[in-house]
Amino acid sequence: MYYQLYMPCPNCMQDGRPTTPVYWHHEACGGNMYLGDNGMAYCEKCGETIPLVNCEFSCPECNPKSSMDCLVKRSELKCIAKAMTVVGAVATTGAGLKWLNRTVNAIGLQCEE
Ligand SMILES: [Zn+2]
Ligand SMILES: [Zn+2]
Repeated sequence: MYYQLYMPCPNCMQDGRPTTPVYWHHEACGGNMYLGDNGMAYCEKCGETIPLVNCEFSCPECNPKSSMDCLVKRSELKCIAKAMTVVGAVATTGAGLKWLNRTVNAIGLQCEE
């Protein structure tokens, strides 16, 4: 099950900048991003799926070169702390608790690989 990815920017949260929830887009094509309880981010436009732990987030606030709130594939990133910040941000927007538990488990498995 997928929810549209709607949350504050994890970078800005980590840096303590005030940030409000936004809908995220795929930088490569501008499509809307969804987050599944399999721990995968999914682009509805081009169909690309990326493990959340391999995603980097970029918004105009923390990256002046970024024209919109978007998500970038970055395979070298394997940071569970960051992933958990992301999940915590999703949680604040009220996704179902069961869905959230499954998502956290899936992301934990990704980080162990
Ligand atoms: Zn896309
Ligand atoms: Zn940001």
